[in-house]
Amino acid sequence: MDILPVETWFEEFQKGFLHIAGPCSAESEMQVLSIAEALREASPPEIFRAGIWKPRTRPGTFNGVGEKGLKWLARVKKEFGYRIAVEAASAKHVEQCFDAGIDIIWVGARSVSNPFSVDEIASALHGKDIPVFVKNPLNPDIDLWIGAIERIHSAATGKLAAIHRGFSPFERTLYRNMPKWEIPIELRRRINNLPLICDPSHITGDSSLVYEVSQKAMDLSMEGLMVEVHTNPGKALSDCNQQLTPEQYRDLRKRLIIRKPKFDDPGFLNDLEELRNQVDSIDHQVVELLGDRMKIIKRMGDYKFRNNVSVLQMERWLEILKTRTEHGNSIGLDTAFLEQLLKHFHQESIRLQTEVMQKRKKEANGLSDKPVTE
Ligand code: PEP
Ligand code: MN
Repeated sequence: MDILPVETWFEEFQKGFLHIAGPCSAESEMQVLSIAEALREASPPEIFRAGIWKPRTRPGTFNGVGEKGLKWLARVKKEFGYRIAVEAASAKHVEQCFDAGIDIIWVGARSVSNPFSVDEIASALHGKDIPVFVKNPLNPDIDLWIGAIERIHSAATGKLAAIHRGFSPFERTLYRNMPKWEIPIELRRRINNLPLICDPSHITGDSSLVYEVSQKAMDLSMEGLMVEVHTNPGKALSDCNQQLTPEQYRDLRKRLIIRKPKFDDPGFLNDLEELRNQVDSIDHQVVELLGDRMKIIKRMGDYKFRNNVSVLQMERWLEILKTRTEHGNSIGLDTAFLEQLLKHFHQESIRLQTEVMQKRKKEANGLSDKPVTE
């Protein structure tokens, strides 16, 4: 794939980094103008973002102001000089954005997850000279992400970037979406010249965590940040927990250490650093998964207590040992290593369940009024 180097299509990128900021959703003309102005005072980005068609996970929530928002954004562009980025989720949206002079279109995570939507958007992009940012799909499927980039690439002009916004977790985790940093790192390895922009707002879902994720993206030498900013986040019609105030955005930018902009460092990260980043990300997930496992183990302790079942059931343990070792062997893991690891898991599980059962027993005997927390 022949992705054009970003500095050839974005003058501002010669500074080495793209700052994208703005509200999750355009809510009114006043709202976008006042955010644009507050950003100019606080720390102006190169690109102003706002969603006007909002693909929502659940029905009945605010789904955007629609086409009329394009006029408001055209005013922001004229009065403040930002480039404007808007999410397009259909061929019609692409046409409307193009006609309204929107500078950049982004394809959202939900659309990227559906190749039919991506095809529709790609066909509307034929013959149009407009940069496109492609978010990662909801699920951690790098081929689906690359497929979307290829589809858009075949229609667009090579002015492409990818946005890493994290992946839906099956259960609630610290972050709203799991970063799985190894996936954008692998994307970069597979597609030369593809600029990577991090969206810490959708990864964290929490304004207090935006800084740490932004810094991590910088440590991985990503080329830009897309941050949701609102003058009154608590009253925002969408994503009210994750938007920063313009002042918080200014502070974020002050604190951020941009270590190695890619334009300065054609070798990008050295291999060891890149591999370490992948290991860090996987270890983080292993720890999160262990936490999930032990939470379920405690619930089992509770269940066993209520049903008068003993903590240890030998057949179950032998079954775990056998199936996990077979699975591990099939992907090249050593038997002795697996057995040791599984024994540690098992011992910890027994310890936790015994603790839960003892507490339950004491409660039942009226010796403690503190319920077990899980
Ligand atoms: C957004 O950027 O506001 C948005 C809806 O993002 P995503 O597609 O990543 O959920
Ligand atoms: Mn949002």
